[in-house]
Amino acid sequence: MIFTNSGICPYCSKAVVFEARQAWLRDHYVCPSCGSIPRERALIWTIEHFFPSWRNLAIHECSAVFRGASSRLRAECRNYTPTQYFTNVSPGKEYKSFRCENIERLTFPDESIDLHVTKDVMEHVFDPASAFREIARTLRPGGAHVFTTPLVNKERNSERRAQLGPDGAVDHLHPAEYHGNPVSDKGSLVTMHWGYDITDFIASSSGLFTTVVYIDQLDAGIRAEYIEVLVTRKPALAGALGPDKSA
Ligand SMILES: [Zn+2]
Repeated sequence: MIFTNSGICPYCSKAVVFEARQAWLRDHYVCPSCGSIPRERALIWTIEHFFPSWRNLAIHECSAVFRGASSRLRAECRNYTPTQYFTNVSPGKEYKSFRCENIERLTFPDESIDLHVTKDVMEHVFDPASAFREIARTLRPGGAHVFTTPLVNKERNSERRAQLGPDGAVDHLHPAEYHGNPVSDKGSLVTMHWGYDITDFIASSSGLFTTVVYIDQLDAGIRAEYIEVLVTRKPALAGALGPDKSA
């Protein structure tokens, strides 16, 4: 054990003693009650503080996995749609309790989603500009994309690691790197090493502005490398949302 500390878990709301079981806190600083890790607690903390009425909002979670924040969103949000991309299923169709969606070409109507949530997805997308545009298209005014993605390059420029060639074959620009993927034994190929200029990339792709939320709060069990939460907001039109829908 590296250290323990007491606090209130933002995910399960219990008074707990957080346990840092290994030095790499991002994956090993856990809540013993719910098993959540720092980036999951940071994400739910951000949703709670920026969008306290989230339980009444239309939430889409891309590549949802039912642990940590996903379970909480599914359990408490009345209008929650989890999706996964299955190459053998038509987008928009239900499959294995998910809706099939490709984040680069969403089938959701324009302005139909209040919150898009993605957790460590945007570093695996081959065409992130299309993904950010699709997110912007489908957001309601006043809505937001709340997400984590490791900003491993920090102040250095973002760097594309792999791309798709015209024939659909993967073109590796750097040695291939994979992250664990609960729905694929092969893991997920890392396509981007993002830096803080991701906010410029999102603005040029979609026209939307992004806030980077960095939380270091031990009594909420939030400390680790690469746990920034990004909030990309679509401006609200005056009066378009009821008072219960604004942050
Ligand atoms: Zn917990």
